[in-house]
Amino acid sequence: MYELKNHTETVVRQALQDYLKRSKLRCGCERCQSDIMAMTLNRLPARYYVSLRGEILTQWESQALPDQARVMAEVVRACQQVDATPSHTANDSVSINENNNSENGYNQ
Ligand SMILES: [Zn+2]
Repeated sequence: MYELKNHTETVVRQALQDYLKRSKLRCGCERCQSDIMAMTLNRLPARYYVSLRGEILTQWESQALPDQARVMAEVVRACQQVDATPSHTANDSVSINENNNSENGYNQ
């Protein structure tokens, strides 16, 4: 099947993984990573290409890519924003399951 792929997404995903290896977010769950991806991609130009089972059929030149420094700057910005205001509560997070008793509403 022919697929539309956004090369910017590939680049951003890689940049995010690199960033997460170096920096610790308060929550790095799948939900937060998706939020970071969405936020970053909305701020960068999309670069779509056509692929067939992973094979790239439409080749455009690498100068069409957003430059790495800009990608990383946007990733860092989105990480800081999501880290400061995660879009889920602590209870929703798979990684933060401790001390959630007071948030269940049963403590009154
Ligand atoms: Zn999270």
